[in-house]
Amino acid sequence: MKITSDIHTHTFLSACAARDSYPQDFMRICKSFGIKTLGFSDHLWDKAVPGSSNWYAPQDVEHVLQLKELLKGPECQAECGGLKILFGCETEFLGGKHVALSREAMSVFDYVLIPPDHFHMKGFTRPADLNDPQGIKELMIRRFMEVMELGMATSVVHPFHAMGWTPEMPRLIQSMITDNEYIECFKAAKQANCAIEINTCAVAPIAGNDGIGPDKFSPEYVRMMTLARETGCTFSIGTDCHNPKNIEKAGGYGHFDRFTDLCGITKILFND
Ligand SMILES: [Zn+2]
Ligand SMILES: [Zn+2]
Repeated sequence: MKITSDIHTHTFLSACAARDSYPQDFMRICKSFGIKTLGFSDHLWDKAVPGSSNWYAPQDVEHVLQLKELLKGPECQAECGGLKILFGCETEFLGGKHVALSREAMSVFDYVLIPPDHFHMKGFTRPADLNDPQGIKELMIRRFMEVMELGMATSVVHPFHAMGWTPEMPRLIQSMITDNEYIECFKAAKQANCAIEINTCAVAPIAGNDGIGPDKFSPEYVRMMTLARETGCTFSIGTDCHNPKNIEKAGGYGHFDRFTDLCGITKILFND
């Protein structure tokens, strides 16, 4: 499917993004690759919610709201023609009901992205001593289901991607998740009206000889997303770029077009 939306991008307001990750550059570059709906989703920890880390603490609602002012400024106004701009956020999730966004602050945003498995934040988002694949898999499935129980996410981002261990870990964990386990998760997502994100990590070429087609798509991601489509889920697209130049480097969204075609995906949020 021709991709015309990207709702997962980080400006310089995210501490981990490039210092020159400017919204107007996202606008110009995304437009040149056929994007019609562009959403900004900086990292967020609402200070009404206790338990933030030192890294998250400064990235509160007031902080990410600065983008709204920038969007009204001359640089953005010069580039935004022909684009629908959405103001979102990528908040944090620590399990159970511990989501880093209060229900009161939710209304500030056009949409909310929730990551179930930012497991690179050892001792914060996951137990520091969690290293065995079976345990990682079980926690990942539990967190996914808990995100659905919250009923706050517009989309669940980079699902089932075990970041924070070796580069091989995401694929290993995915290979351990059965079709039925995925289907249970995706039924819950459908019920919660939560989209499944197709992130850059899902369409990246894999190492080794068993990548699918010229893009070398991961067979595990093709299985996951095909099952989500068969279960009736809606999807969202997220480059998750922390620097607009990376969209140029990737050559735009062609790999997303081909991946969604391969998985038979046509229901994509904000995609016309
Ligand atoms: Zn993330
Ligand atoms: Zn992100």
